[in-house]
Amino acid sequence: MLDKVVIANRGEIALRVLRACKELGIKTVAVHSTVDKNLKHVLLADESICIGKAPATESYLNIPSIIAAAEVTDAIAIHPGYGFLAENADFAEQVENSGFIFIGPKPDTIRLMGDKVSAIDAMKKAGVPCVPGSDGFLSNDESKNVAIAKRIGYPVIIKASGGGGGRGMRVVRQESDLVQSIQLTKAEAKSAFNNDAVYMEKFLENPRHIEVQVLADGQGSAIHLGERDCSMQRRHQKVVEEAPAPGITEDMRRYIGERCVRACIEIGYRGAGTFEFLFENGEFYFIEMNTRIQVEHPVTEMVTGVDLIKEQLRIAAGQPLSLTQDDIQIRGHAIECRINAEDPERFTPSPGKINRFHAPGGLGIRWESHIYTDYTVPPNYDSMIAKLITYGENRGVAIGRMRNALTEVVVEGIQTNIPLQEDIMADENFQNGGTNIHYLEKKLDLA
Ligand code: ADP
Repeated sequence: MLDKVVIANRGEIALRVLRACKELGIKTVAVHSTVDKNLKHVLLADESICIGKAPATESYLNIPSIIAAAEVTDAIAIHPGYGFLAENADFAEQVENSGFIFIGPKPDTIRLMGDKVSAIDAMKKAGVPCVPGSDGFLSNDESKNVAIAKRIGYPVIIKASGGGGGRGMRVVRQESDLVQSIQLTKAEAKSAFNNDAVYMEKFLENPRHIEVQVLADGQGSAIHLGERDCSMQRRHQKVVEEAPAPGITEDMRRYIGERCVRACIEIGYRGAGTFEFLFENGEFYFIEMNTRIQVEHPVTEMVTGVDLIKEQLRIAAGQPLSLTQDDIQIRGHAIECRINAEDPERFTPSPGKINRFHAPGGLGIRWESHIYTDYTVPPNYDSMIAKLITYGENRGVAIGRMRNALTEVVVEGIQTNIPLQEDIMADENFQNGGTNIHYLEKKLDLA
């Protein structure tokens, strides 16, 4: 096993990684910014090092500081968590070139999947279903682009190949808007991602977001752990996630899962990863791969019984996968609500000191959070302060437990989105299952 790991992240995921390391007998090094010295995992880690000031660019995104922390503590590996440097191929490369293990895929794999056009290309070769599209970058040939859009059929979406975080996309509904939309998206992509390559896809009007979790050892073995439904979104940010996805049959799961596994083997994938799909009229359409652990990984852990972070650590230590596809059985249902420090109606961040705190409990309740009484939520980072996950033998039981658990949470001193989550859990259409990615925004507009 790995001897000592640097946790290059903060908040709940840093604590999650710390707990997994402890269970495996791995020593931990917490790296943190000046405002994060009282984070729960920093207090619990074997060693901690301040790597810079509050702005992420001076700390959690500061590659030399993080690598220096590994050097001075004699650590052997670095876990990037999610966000920050988790999908930065240059970081992964510098970690490896400095003699450390990057807990994630090879840098070239991150690069391949980080560029959407090359990712789609690789997926098509592996037989993963993709959205009908331009088959590569758009050129500056206007008549050719008009012809491509005609072949795909309106509406289409122009997307930046180097895009991320829901930015660099534009929907085009009629031919007269096409040429200008391509130019605008290219200009935006150039300034936001320093890469003006764009491509075109069919725009799906009312899809669901369904994603498949995989594990691969980079030694020729890969498995899938079923799917999650993350359709409850606001501004492309996931709000509620669940596993399994309502209405996905065992046959559909096997169909899409097997293709993701084949893709992992073909690209030499290593570690935990997620294939994201839009799902409409019974069909899956690949949109991108996340080459890291995701926020919503716990719902998969609950229904499979597999500890995904421990698997990441084992794979990084060079161990072959200990699980086969037959070991993966989906049992029961799990739901995750993201708890954010924000105004539940206006969605503005609500940082500050937590004066009183009480966590929910009971059968089937999992609380993943770094907060405690007197902890101050800094204004510098993402507003997510906790994830509440419930498990039940079926979806109804999981929802019932979530509704109870949400009423038990006490967080005073700051605002949270718990009222919004209570509304969603009480929503009849959510309770029926299978709402699409626009559902929450439409519901909020009506409210
Ligand atoms: P990002 O990397 O910025 O998250 P994605 O490719 O994952 O970009 O797309 C983000 C979101 O944009 C999707 O979850 C979906 O809501 C919307 N989207 C992307 N492509 C399409 C498409 N072809 N049709 C409809 N919606 C799309």
